[in-house]
Amino acid sequence: MFVNDPVIIVGAGLSGLRTASLLTAQGIKCSVLEARGRIGGRVLSKEVAERPDLGRFDLGPTWFWPRYERTITKLVKELGLETFDQYNKGLMLFERSRNEPAQQYVMPEGNVERSVRFIGGVQSLIDAVAATLPTGTIQLNTQVTSIRQEGNGNITLEADGIRDSIRASAVIITLPPRVVARNITFRPELSPDLKTSLVNKPTWMAAQAKAVAVYDRPFWREIGLSGLVSSWVGPLQEIQDASPDAGAGALFGFFGMPAKTRQELGKEKVLKLVVEQLTRLFGPSAANMKALLYKDWSSDPDTAVAEDAEPLRDYPSYGPPVGLESWGKKIIFAGTETAYEQGGHLEGALRSAERAVSELVEL
Ligand SMILES: Cc1cc2nc3c(=O)[nH]c(=O)nc-3n(C[C@H](O)[C@H](O)[C@H](O)COP(=O)(O)OP(=O)(O)OC[C@H]3O[C@@H](n4cnc5c(N)ncnc54)[C@H](O)[C@@H]3O)c2cc1C
Repeated sequence: MFVNDPVIIVGAGLSGLRTASLLTAQGIKCSVLEARGRIGGRVLSKEVAERPDLGRFDLGPTWFWPRYERTITKLVKELGLETFDQYNKGLMLFERSRNEPAQQYVMPEGNVERSVRFIGGVQSLIDAVAATLPTGTIQLNTQVTSIRQEGNGNITLEADGIRDSIRASAVIITLPPRVVARNITFRPELSPDLKTSLVNKPTWMAAQAKAVAVYDRPFWREIGLSGLVSSWVGPLQEIQDASPDAGAGALFGFFGMPAKTRQELGKEKVLKLVVEQLTRLFGPSAANMKALLYKDWSSDPDTAVAEDAEPLRDYPSYGPPVGLESWGKKIIFAGTETAYEQGGHLEGALRSAERAVSELVEL
């Protein structure tokens, strides 16, 4: 057995990085292989090119909810990360139809669940977890394509861009399950039950896109607006204040426009509609943006598969996939979609990492 070989973690999203951090803390040698040229996976906090002074803006996740999410709340404290509450003071707008002005609503006190943001964006969490790892633990631009268990139990991986195969004492896979089913070949083959189990775990938010409009100040607050909008007109269905804790202003929106329509229209036309909507809702100042950032997750093959273009109708049934027995626990699945609780969220990604590490250590 390759007992002296590292545990290989596939994927350097929050789940993979936390898994590596927990193993390292227990003195277990590990290595993280990541397909993209960056760490973070669905976490993506971007600066405006040539204006880093404006701050970092989240194009993936934004919040955590301390009331329900104890694991991330504890980790944030442990890592000493700075956070602030989502801004929601002032009036909310409701856009019912294109032919009438948006209606204004007073948000009832205490009606909104407290959601918390990171100073510097969620990337601050990713960077802090990655900083707990020994140099050289993470290998970027390494897309795993196959995982093979030999007759004697040894495990080897193949990856694009790597000539030699990589030996592992065990493998922890932290990718969205559908991406595993589509992109990784297993020898021996996964059982039909396991494949079905993977395909039946749609990737959380993979059908979504985010647009973030950046301004030199949050001007809507000056006229008593919270930045919160609910729209039946679109293309953005939900808009929120995404300003950093101080200085610049920003509004971000989730799309009501389906992934297929966005892909057919193309980025330029989609963003033109976004600017029209923001101007309709917040007045001419909204057109005067410093930047308009955009990320469509549905067309990113490291997150989404074609089936993910369909919006989710119900909350999916997440949890670890079933049917891995033939691998003798040499392969463990983590990643937010495999969490028993808070699957889909950052919290789920962390909980899945804890479960995977305890399963490995129990072997
Ligand atoms: C638009 C959007 C908004 C969201 N908002 C929130 C929010 O506000 N709060 C919240 O809690 N959650 C939110 N989420 C969900 C949150 O982003 C995820 O729960 C979390 O980031 C998942 O982490 P993960 O490590 O499980 O998976 P991922 O971040 O998807 O990590 C998987 C990693 O595997 C890599 N990979 C893929 N294929 C391979 C391969 N073959 N070989 C090697 N590496 C590979 C990927 O590049 C990626 O880095 C949001 C997500 C999106 C997209």
